Amino acid sequence: MAAILLARAGWRVRVLERLPHLGGAAVSAQLFDGVQARVSRYSYLVSLLSPALRSRLGLSIRLARRPYSWCAEGLLVGEDADGGPEYAAWQGMIARAARALAPTLLEPLRSREQLLGLLEPHAREALFEQPLAVSLQRALSCDLLRGVVATDALIGTFASAAERSLRQNRCLLYHVLGGSWDVPVGGMGALAGELERRARAAGAQLVCGAEVTAIAADGKRAEVRCADGTSVRARHVLAALAPAVLSRLLGEAVGPRGGDRPEGSQLKVNMLLRRLPRLRPRARVRRHAARQRALRAAAARPCPGRRRADPRARAVRALLPLAHRSEHPLTAAARRRRAHADGVRAAHARAAVRRRSRRRQAPSARRRA
Ligand SMILES: Cc1cc2nc3c(=O)[nH]c(=O)nc-3n(C[C@H](O)[C@H](O)[C@H](O)COP(=O)(O)OP(=O)(O)OC[C@H]3O[C@@H](n4cnc5c(N)ncnc54)[C@H](O)[C@@H]3O)c2cc1C
Repeated sequence: MAAILLARAGWRVRVLERLPHLGGAAVSAQLFDGVQARVSRYSYLVSLLSPALRSRLGLSIRLARRPYSWCAEGLLVGEDADGGPEYAAWQGMIARAARALAPTLLEPLRSREQLLGLLEPHAREALFEQPLAVSLQRALSCDLLRGVVATDALIGTFASAAERSLRQNRCLLYHVLGGSWDVPVGGMGALAGELERRARAAGAQLVCGAEVTAIAADGKRAEVRCADGTSVRARHVLAALAPAVLSRLLGEAVGPRGGDRPEGSQLKVNMLLRRLPRLRPRARVRRHAARQRALRAAAARPCPGRRRADPRARAVRALLPLAHRSEHPLTAAARRRRAHADGVRAAHARAAVRRRSRRRQAPSARRRA
């Protein structure tokens, strides 16, 4: 992206990449022998690439919405999730903060005070001044929902939700500022390929197989040395590298930019499926009023130790939307099987009601006898 913008602004740009291909962690690859399918190898969703930036870069890429962002433990979280009034209030605060802050990502960096001035006082306190753990404890009474929000704050960081450095708050902000997380049609490789085409068209020189081994800079000009013995002189060097790698290239022992090697905390499991799973939470959806009552009652009492017996978890599962059955059209045979299963379940339920009512009547009948 930087190469496109700088080349278009009239700079002579050269990109040095040590691998035989560009894209970094935003690439597609054929991962399974004998299967002709390319999947997003690491990074797979797009959020911070705003429509404004896409049009400025002239990218032609299609993004597809995901109806659900989360599925675990019988919990499905979608954009339209009805998580009760507390969750709605939290999400509303986040959405307003994102609307205020997101445009600033494309502007010259603002000062902290200027940025805070864009936010409502509640958002300032919850996101910028106190650890997320405190904000979540105040805003949400349900542990399950706190966990859902905290995921976006802790992923990829080695922070705890209560850390005073507020790294977790910053991570949350980066996750929510761009709004939805969409799937690039054609995988991340399609996006990286489009960026590469635009950069070349703008006149940038892209060199693969060029590993940088050292950067010497005196504040006015720089020399970049490569593993093959070549070097490049430049007025500016923009390094898209982990801070520790940059420190090493600059010859800093253990620099202000961190330790001597980058540390990661992510594992990605890539799968190829014959068909998409039909995601459904285990609990049945109840009526809205009953859900609200359950959540209010649950919020008023302490959470018992056993997770499955946690009434708040049950209430929340029920609050979140079911996957649309219509998303994956059923075959006629599957429809018949489902109708049969629904009929059998209903018959069992009716039989259970009859048995319960017989048991209730039995003592009075015995007394009469
Ligand atoms: C498993 C995983 C999943 C992710 N999922 C998402 C997601 O869904 N959405 C999202 O937005 N982000 C995601 N991310 C984060 C995202 O991938 C990164 O933020 C992004 O790739 C950073 O881009 P970058 O260009 O700064 O660095 P990178 O993508 O890491 O690229 C750095 C490039 O520099 C090259 N390089 C390194 N050292 C040298 C050297 N000495 N000389 C020359 N070249 C060198 C590397 O080979 C690499 O190509 C994910 C990350 C991981 C690991």
